[in-house]
Amino acid sequence: MQASAEILASVFLELRRLVRPGVTTLELDEAIETMIREAGCVPSFKGYHGFPASACISVNEEVVHGIPSQRVLEEGDIVGIDVGLIRDGWHADSAETLPVGRVSEEAAALLRVTRECLEKGIAAIAPGARISAIGTAIESHAKAHGFSVVESLVGHGIGQDLHEDPQVPNFRCFTMPDPVMEEGLVIAIEPMINCGTKRVKTAPDEWTVITADRGLSAHFEHTVAVTSAGPRILTRRGSGVAAF
Ligand code: MG
Ligand code: MG
Repeated sequence: MQASAEILASVFLELRRLVRPGVTTLELDEAIETMIREAGCVPSFKGYHGFPASACISVNEEVVHGIPSQRVLEEGDIVGIDVGLIRDGWHADSAETLPVGRVSEEAAALLRVTRECLEKGIAAIAPGARISAIGTAIESHAKAHGFSVVESLVGHGIGQDLHEDPQVPNFRCFTMPDPVMEEGLVIAIEPMINCGTKRVKTAPDEWTVITADRGLSAHFEHTVAVTSAGPRILTRRGSGVAAF
């Protein structure tokens, strides 16, 4: 899974260079699929429950599951890109939300806080701790900054399947199983944080999840292993201390 995840991290490092005003989300998807296949891997999402593309690309009020299209990214947009790949039967899954050129103060704050939420969630990982420690950390950080946490979609275990048990909510959840994290568990943690209401709805394309009030939303995700030494971020962007 580390090998799968390193390839996925390299895809995101390239995406940070490709995202700019004027590019279409379909062009980004095509670049992503080319990078994945040239690395000898297979996109996890293409054909998953009928999803038509290699990446989910979600702009502004779109939360997740956006379908790549001829939409042109404009200065001031924020674009969430979610990609999974399979190498030798093992999945990796990651997402980040990038600014397109200069963005508003509100958008910049949302991106920063959502990324911090992912960091806080990962920091709650330890063998013997419960899964709920992750969502508790994420929710308290988001709320401290006046943002809300999407509750209708959650993180997940990952391995030979893209989505495995346990579910990993990004909030204090009292209705899902709350297992203890054991060494060797690998989970995808993926907070979806909104500027306004936490409520979301599905667009007429039956894929794209959008905020109910059309406020901005951001999404960051890492594939993380539970080890005796603590969390190991498999999809970390490079080996430097500041890489995340
Ligand atoms: Mg993902
Ligand atoms: Mg995921």
